[in-house]
Amino acid sequence: MLTIGCHLSSAKGYTAMAKEAEKINANTFQFFTRNPRGGKAKAIDPKDVEQFHLEASRLGIQKILAHAPYTLNACSPDEKVREFAYNTMADDLKRMEYTPGNCYNFHPGSHVKQGAEKGIELIAELLNNILRPEQSTTVLLETMAGKGSEIGRTFEELARIYDGVNYNDKLRVCFDTCHTSDSGYDIVGHFDDVIDEFDRIIGKDQIAVFHINDSKNPRGAQKDRHENLGFGNLGFDALNYIVHHPDFENVPKILETPWIPSKANPKKSYAPYKYEIEMLRSGKFDPDMKTRILKDSENQAGA
Ligand code: FE
Ligand code: FE
Ligand code: ZN
Repeated sequence: MLTIGCHLSSAKGYTAMAKEAEKINANTFQFFTRNPRGGKAKAIDPKDVEQFHLEASRLGIQKILAHAPYTLNACSPDEKVREFAYNTMADDLKRMEYTPGNCYNFHPGSHVKQGAEKGIELIAELLNNILRPEQSTTVLLETMAGKGSEIGRTFEELARIYDGVNYNDKLRVCFDTCHTSDSGYDIVGHFDDVIDEFDRIIGKDQIAVFHINDSKNPRGAQKDRHENLGFGNLGFDALNYIVHHPDFENVPKILETPWIPSKANPKKSYAPYKYEIEMLRSGKFDPDMKTRILKDSENQAGA
């Protein structure tokens, strides 16, 4: 069975996210552990967690994925920024143990003129200070688009982080389709070859999650601008092929595609996920999806 979901708002807690997942026919989801631009996390409500576990078993939700804030840079040249990265990740991982056995994804970081070698060293150092043999949470390194000085644009860079980490059995990879295409891998024409390469360098069993996003930019653009499935440079067929690939049947797929802006009210936009999940579950692309979302959402809002 397909394990598929999307990024959801964590503002109302875990139980609310499970209920939202049900509405859009998702059986997994991703959420920010705190404001994605940084800041303090809300305290975990044990009652909410308890209720969530009941909802999750009712809905068949087996895995959820937390995403670290974007401001977390484990390899910044600024010691203060690295300290923030350490404190944030350590605190997040403590909180993750309320929902044991799940995944915590982070962007490895940007080395900012120190060079990739130094960047990789600092990321491994931070992970060595944080990972514990007894933790139940798996920490994911996301494949990156290669914007600016991002680490993780190649599989080799991720492998070198693994090499520097003592408890690297606690590490896995989050494979983002928009990012890997933006960084230059031909996942549209040669997904199987790309996976063979990944397998040689890291091991394909190390892919714990896929981020399924189309890209606004052509392969190699290093931009990182997500697009709705089938409306970008990857196209629906390539993404659908990845989602249904037999090697990754049990790997959760998370959508992080942009919301559709309302034409009537420029301040409003609508989540595309229910529609994109429906397209992936059926394997059929709907070129009118965006129009349909606006029609349905604005009917509902007006009703
Ligand atoms: Fe990400
Ligand atoms: Fe992503
Ligand atoms: Zn991205």
